[in-house]
Formats: sequence, structure tokens, C-alpha cells
Amino acid sequence: DEDRALLDADGADSDEEGEAGGRPVVAIIGRPNVGKSTLVNRVIGRREAVVEDVPGVTRDRVAYDAEWSGRDFTLVDTGGWEVDASGIHLRVAEQAEVAIELADAVLFVVDATVGATDTDEAVVKLLRRSKKPVVLVANKVDDQRIEAEAAALWSFGLGQPWPVSALHGRGTGDALDALLEVLPEKSAVAAYQRGGPRRVALVGRPNVGKSSLLNKLAGEDRVVVDNVAGTTRDPVDELIELGGQTWRFVDTAGIRRRVHMTRGADFYASLRTQAAIEKAEVAVVLIDAEDNIAEQDIRVVQQVIDAGRALVLAFNKWDLLDEERRHYLEREIERDLAMVSWAPRVNVSARTGRHLERLVPALEVALDSWDQRIPTGKLNSFLGEVVAAHPHPVRSGKQPRILFATQVSTRPPRFVIFASGFIEAGYRRFLERRLREQFGFEGTPIELSVRVRE
Ligand code: GDP
Ligand code: GDP
Repeated sequence: DEDRALLDADGADSDEEGEAGGRPVVAIIGRPNVGKSTLVNRVIGRREAVVEDVPGVTRDRVAYDAEWSGRDFTLVDTGGWEVDASGIHLRVAEQAEVAIELADAVLFVVDATVGATDTDEAVVKLLRRSKKPVVLVANKVDDQRIEAEAAALWSFGLGQPWPVSALHGRGTGDALDALLEVLPEKSAVAAYQRGGPRRVALVGRPNVGKSSLLNKLAGEDRVVVDNVAGTTRDPVDELIELGGQTWRFVDTAGIRRRVHMTRGADFYASLRTQAAIEKAEVAVVLIDAEDNIAEQDIRVVQQVIDAGRALVLAFNKWDLLDEERRHYLEREIERDLAMVSWAPRVNVSARTGRHLERLVPALEVALDSWDQRIPTGKLNSFLGEVVAAHPHPVRSGKQPRILFATQVSTRPPRFVIFASGFIEAGYRRFLERRLREQFGFEGTPIELSVRVRE
């Protein structure tokens, strides 16, 4: 079954036109266990075609092709909210914020048998701020007796709560009809879907020179793109001509406005960074070359990797470097950024314009890698050679064999290896290294997972 799912995902991915087109995007949000997945299954039935190139879709978010009453839309499920006592609000807000922003309408699911929780209230605030159309689903209303509980959710101020039992199908039709009524015909977030200008996020901790670099790159003829998501909030993109093509720099308003909030500034900065990265295909992480590489720099780099986006490292303020600092910088890079030794690197100065022309080639290399697909035959003959030359170590008399491997997706490249037994982490890293040596993948994270076949 797992194989089947993989092949389906593969098929969806290689469809270059994409399912995306201009179909509107619906985000389904809510706390864990309120019944989101159950509702998704109700809507999409058995056709679980996972759509890949929907912005904001990460390990935590899955997109499906959905249809109701003859209208097609993309349904994005935010299944992965983490419930840990410490940071739940933060995590939920982060996930919800991105999902809401990248949607044309929202299905907000609440468990009517539990009622409104603090987390729900926090999400309601985000929803109000976003001004997106919302359909409030009061789930687990399995019978009439619970309808009063559903009615209590009027208190959210999000309009009518639709009493639904996702499990039994009760009321789902009405809720979906209500959704279609508020769902725009044309997607306002469709500009983000496959085929448009390539999307770049310019990220980095405060004062590394993001706004200076943006100004330098944009020059005079920058085009400010209207708030794509149609909200009144910060994120605004800019289209910038570089190296003969147009690039979409996402969420540049946040960079330009330079809001300096005192309380919670870090939280908002990291949220904004997260949103920008997820909307982008490639991220340029800007680092102040004059300053020591900081924890925060590494965190931003890690966010890019975790989101599975292509990565370029840009060391800025190169005009300020003397010989000694250059020496120490190289050592810091080796020590602190070893995990992204595969990322192309440019040494620039936003002030003088030094080497800015090297940015586009670096972006292109990274995006090509991100898009790269290795044919299964080629992959397996290569792995065959590698494994023959360096077999997995024997442990307690056993030696797992690599049976077969396939690249299940691009953007970023993901591989699944089928093996006869457990593959040690060290050997996985070895395989990843060899894959990179053989096929490049400069500028893109790659994922390698192992399935054990007895
Ligand atoms: P998610 O975490 O929000 O995706 O929630 P799930 O869809 O996984 O559902 C969580 C649990 O609630 C599961 O055990 C479901 O069977 C149950 N559930 C979902 N919808 C309903 C419903 O309408 N009524 C009842 N009684 N249980 C439901
Ligand atoms: P942001 O917070 O990342 O947007 O950083 P800014 O663009 O506002 O830059 C922070 C400070 O660094 C400003 O004083 C800039 O003038 C300065 N700066 C930015 N880039 C360079 C550069 O390449 N060289 C030098 N010397 N200063 C720079």
C-alpha cells in the first residue's frame, strides 16, 4: 500500500502543468483530534492524490485535490500541529498563520463536544486579522443532542457554526456548500503556484543587510506586487528583474518596514521568516560576514532545510572585511555551517554592489538541483556499485541488503531505499554523501528514508 501511495505522489509531481492552475486553496485548520483528517477523507473520498507544489506545504501540511458540487479546489490539511505543553500556542499560531495566509478560504474545525479552548481563541484572532473567508465547522455533532454545544460557538464571532459529524457524514454537505459560497472563483494565492516567476525569500537575522540588499537588487524599477493573499497585513511581494528574468521576492514588506517591536519581536521575526521561507522555492540566507556567525544565523539556515527549500548562503558586508576576519570567517563557516557545505555561497556587499551578479547563477544552480530527478535505473545502478564497493557493516552476524531505491519526489529531491534490514544512520549519511558526489544537488537539501522489507 505504501508503494502505491509513493507512486501516486510521484505521478502528481511529474505532471509539469501541475494540478494547481488557478484553483482556489482551502486550508483546513484546527487543534489536533478535532477531526480534520476525518473531514478531509469525507471530502476527497478515496482519491488521495497528494499535490506537491503548493506553497506552504511541508512535512506538516498535505494538499489534496478536492471537488464538491462540481467545483475543484485544493484542500490543505494542517495535520502536524505539535501538542507539547510548553509551546503549543506558539507552534499552533505559527502553523495556522502560514496556512491561513496561503489560502483563499479556511475551514476552521472545532470539537463541539469540547467547546472553545484557549488555542481555539488564539486561532480565531488570527482568522479575524486575516480577513479571509472562514467556515466554522463544529465537529463531532453526531446527533441532535450536541447541537446546543455547536451553537455556543457563535461566540467566536465568525458567523454561523456548522454542526457536522465528519465521522458519520452528518451536516458535512451543508458546511461544504457554505464553503463554496465564500470561496472565490479565482485563487488570489494562485500567483504562487507552479509556472510563475521563481520565488525567492531573502532571510537572515536583523541588521545583516536584507533591506540594503533588496534595495540594491531592485534598483529603480521594482514592482511592488499587491498583497497576494488579499489581506491587509504585512506580506507584500516584489517582482525584480535580475539576470534577464523576473524573480518574485516574497514578503518584502516585512523587510522594508523594519518594525521594531519590543515585546515578542523575536517571535514575530521568526514567524515572518518561517512564512517567507515556506512561500519561497529558494531562500537566500544573508549573513553578516563581519560579525561572528550566531546561533540565530544557524537557526534560519535550519528553518530552510526543515522546510525543504533550496538554499543559497550570501555573506554580506564583504567591503568591511580585513584579512584577519576573512581567515576567521572561513574557520567559522567550516565549524558552524558544515551541515550545509552543499549550499552555494556568494560573498557580497549590498553597499558597494560587489559580486551581486553572482547571486542569480547561485539561485539557478540551487533551483536546478531542487528540481532534479534521477531516473530509477540510473539511481539503482549507481547504488549497486556503491554498495558493492562499500557494503553495510555486518552487525551481530547480519547484513542488511539494499534492495531497491527510487526518487519519490523533487522539490526537494526525496529518496526511498528499500532494504532487507535496518540501515544505520552512519551508512545513510554515507549514501547521502555519495548521492551528492555523483549527482550534484548543490543548493538543495535531500531526504533519504529507508523502508525495511522482511
Ligand atoms: P485531526 O487530528 O484533527 O485530523 O482528527 P482526526 O480526524 O484524526 O480525528 C480524531 C478522532 O476523532 C478520531 O478518533 C476520529 O474518529 C474522531 N472523530 C472525527 N470526527 C468525528 C465525529 O464527527 N464524531 C465523532 N464522534 N468522532 C469523530
Ligand atoms: P536588515 O535589518 O537585515 O534589513 O539590515 P539593513 O539593510 O537595514 O542593514 C543594517 C545596517 O548594515 C545598515 O546600517 C546598513 O547600512 C548596513 N549594511 C548593509 N549592507 C552593508 C554592506 O554590504 N556593507 C556595509 N558596510 N554596511 C552594510
